[in-house]
Amino acid sequence: MKQQLYIYNSLSKKKELFIPINEGFVGMYVCGPTVYSNVHLGNCRTFLSFDLVFRYLQHLGYKVRYVRNITDAGHLENDADYGEDRIAKKARLEQLEPMEVVQRYTVDFHTIMAKFNALPPSIEPTATGHIIEQIELIKKIIDEGYAYEVNGSVYFNVHAYNKKHHYGVLSGRNLDDMIANTRELEGQTDKKNPQDFALWKKAEPQHIMRWPSPWSDGFPGWHLECTAMSTKYLGEHFDIHGGGMDLKFPHHECEIAQAEACNHQAPVNYWMHANMLKLNGKKMAKSTGNNILPNELFSGNNSILSKAYSPSVAKFFMFQAHYRSILDVSDEALTASEKGFNKLLQAIREIDNLKASEKSSVSVSEWKQSCYDAMNDDFNSPVLIAQLFEGVKIINAVKEEKQTLTQQAIETLKDTMNAFIFDVLGLKDNDEECTTDNKALTQAVNLLIEMRNKARADKDFATGDKIRDELLSAGIQLKDGKDGTTFSVL
Ligand SMILES: [Zn+2]
Repeated sequence: MKQQLYIYNSLSKKKELFIPINEGFVGMYVCGPTVYSNVHLGNCRTFLSFDLVFRYLQHLGYKVRYVRNITDAGHLENDADYGEDRIAKKARLEQLEPMEVVQRYTVDFHTIMAKFNALPPSIEPTATGHIIEQIELIKKIIDEGYAYEVNGSVYFNVHAYNKKHHYGVLSGRNLDDMIANTRELEGQTDKKNPQDFALWKKAEPQHIMRWPSPWSDGFPGWHLECTAMSTKYLGEHFDIHGGGMDLKFPHHECEIAQAEACNHQAPVNYWMHANMLKLNGKKMAKSTGNNILPNELFSGNNSILSKAYSPSVAKFFMFQAHYRSILDVSDEALTASEKGFNKLLQAIREIDNLKASEKSSVSVSEWKQSCYDAMNDDFNSPVLIAQLFEGVKIINAVKEEKQTLTQQAIETLKDTMNAFIFDVLGLKDNDEECTTDNKALTQAVNLLIEMRNKARADKDFATGDKIRDELLSAGIQLKDGKDGTTFSVL
């Protein structure tokens, strides 16, 4: 079944049929985190949205090279190229080496992403690991006539660029409006025009993170690293570039300008942007206390929560909204999602008990295609979830003998439910029993339970207890109940 995938392209502001540059292959770049503090839930939503994209493209059979960077230098406090480097500031405040800050929050980011069962990207390059590539890129932009050096810093000349190209093509802005709306700010005196942006900044004497360059000891501008790393790993022209909505301007606009200036072509075919997350109807902000960290969600340790929610419940909640819509988190909404998610898991467990009939009274293949149709419509996860609940209705109707399915239809129903819930949405069954990842574990433990039952039936209690105790020391607890023995992973 060949699926036709449509993606909403932020550049054309239309849904477009996805045609990869090289058939069967997809190159995707997503702007990763700046690792100077714990990753917040809004960022997690962005990365989980692109995990869904990555997973679905792979599910469709594409070989995807997914590059997501780590910003570990060059991201200043203010997007207009002034203020302290965010990582250097944290290092100064906490009396750490900048690389200690980077390491601490990179580990935090990876841990949280693993808890959310997000797949790691194919390549995760860092800005500090690509200083040479960034310097080469600046040289090229200067040679092309789109950058100039002042006092050891190099700036991209937006006005010169805009004469031949449209600076603002992605965000729908134009330079004249930007000029009209810009105030002269202190610290920008080196720039020919306030709209120009830094490619290289000369480091002040107190600035710790610095590298030698032809212009000065300094550091690269934040926008440059993504152009350097996406070009290095995906080429001058690649399929998908993603990020949070807030990166559209200036970050992504600057990426387009840098790449066009060097390579004389648009770098990306499909630009995708994930929308923001609100908390109780308000913007999340540390300063107002209207904020929640992923670990607080998993532990319930936050005053706005009545209980803890598992990463899968949180993720299921997020996917109940489309990635381009604003999503409002609240305790009530999470509780409702938890109920829905449990209902879905319960239904999956029932599939194996369904009785097959000679004929099917409902079309499972039509239902299956409607799941694909949802995802093919710009990764519409809320519609997909609604279709999965249609699957639950079919399961319950067959269980109650109101509908019938053939054995083959039951298999298709089971495979499709499993594929979308566990592989595409990347959710996990908290009981650790139904996930496709744990199929082998379940089979192996069930075999040991059977051997233990046999030993006990033969009055060989020593062997029975040994199996139970050894499993327990391996972190698997057996529970004997009326209906037999079950297990849980501790
Ligand atoms: Zn970026």
